[in-house]
Amino acid sequence: MIRMNEHFNKLQSSYLFSTIGKKVGEFQAANPSVSIIKLGIGDVTHALSAEIVQAFHAGVDELGDDATFRGYGPEQGYEFLRNAIAEIDFQARNCDIQADEIFVSDGAKCDTGNFQELFAQDITIAVPDPVYPVYVDTNVMAGRTGTFSKGRYEGLVYLESTKENSFVPSPPEKTVDLIYLCFPNNPTGATATKEQLTQWVEYARANQALILFDAAYVEFIRDPRLPRSIYEIPGAREMAVEFRSFSKTAGFTGTRAAYTVIPKDCLVYDHSGSGHSLHALWNRRQTTKFNGLSYPVQRAAAAVYTPQGQAQIHAQSDYYLENARLIREAMTGLGYPVTGGENSPYIWVEAGGDSWDFFDMLLQKAGVVTTPGSGFGRCGEGYIRISAFNHREKVLQALDRIAQALKS
Ligand SMILES: *Cc1c(COP(=O)(O)O)cnc(C)c1O
Repeated sequence: MIRMNEHFNKLQSSYLFSTIGKKVGEFQAANPSVSIIKLGIGDVTHALSAEIVQAFHAGVDELGDDATFRGYGPEQGYEFLRNAIAEIDFQARNCDIQADEIFVSDGAKCDTGNFQELFAQDITIAVPDPVYPVYVDTNVMAGRTGTFSKGRYEGLVYLESTKENSFVPSPPEKTVDLIYLCFPNNPTGATATKEQLTQWVEYARANQALILFDAAYVEFIRDPRLPRSIYEIPGAREMAVEFRSFSKTAGFTGTRAAYTVIPKDCLVYDHSGSGHSLHALWNRRQTTKFNGLSYPVQRAAAAVYTPQGQAQIHAQSDYYLENARLIREAMTGLGYPVTGGENSPYIWVEAGGDSWDFFDMLLQKAGVVTTPGSGFGRCGEGYIRISAFNHREKVLQALDRIAQALKS
């Protein structure tokens, strides 16, 4: 008999976005004339910029000619892309990261999800609450948690992100081995200062722990005092892996490109306490299970690092940040405390009641789709996330409708 991995039975069945989809579908069926505005799911809405499209096309043309055709590429990514990443995203910012410490992939979702394969079954894991669900669910599937009860999986250490700590949790009292952090945060939009990240790096060092730092939203940071990489923190080369994505940075959600940085100084320990290279482990994993990212996509990603490419993606994130500012100001003006929306495309709004009730009210009365905070964890109850990824006129229209709905 073919038996299942029963850890899958512990997963929460009603996935957040499918429930939202169902509610939106029902509302639209009942109100066919309303044009619904989606500020819910974190997906970009603007086309790839010209520089990127051109490089993408050129890559395809190369594959269509015997003289320039390429088959399998390096599993870690082509050097032209890894060199550009190392130089522009790290060395230009005084972060000591080399091209051979970068692993190019087709998504930060897969990388953050797959990375747990490298660790023992009985490690203690800390996850933020609220959280990007991938970190939690992949560890549940792997059997590293107990069952789900009262909004939490047994065995995980939850790092509560609340109004009291301005949505930036401090290291826990107890010892954990693996720590997931994400700044600028999804869903709260909160950012972490150098001092706050330094506390985490020091905690990791004291506990021989490892930080998995998800920096998918780094392109939205404008405040020059905020760190744009965990490697701006002294000593982080030994204690942290960083995940980056071209998805929100450059509009690659449908194109797919991301990378993971594993400094050669990061160690992981066996049962006898001897250290092993984490870089070597991930390299072994990737060369076994991954055959590299599509060549034209790597050409498109490399175009992000040309001066024109940088200017174009910066203009795009400026646009989304202006949306974020408008949403932030409108919600504040309507009397709702908010966080995020500065240095982040997400606005985390304190709803003043149940998350789903507020979500339903905005859908029913304004025809605007948001995301209920409770879907991201227990600490998200009472909040909704509004995304700034949309066209300006839609955002303005949504804000008008929300203002009307709240006054009625
Ligand atoms: C969108 C997002 C990613 C990016 O995932 P991709 O697979 O690269 O599209 C990673 N982490 C977080 C927190 C995200 O919101």
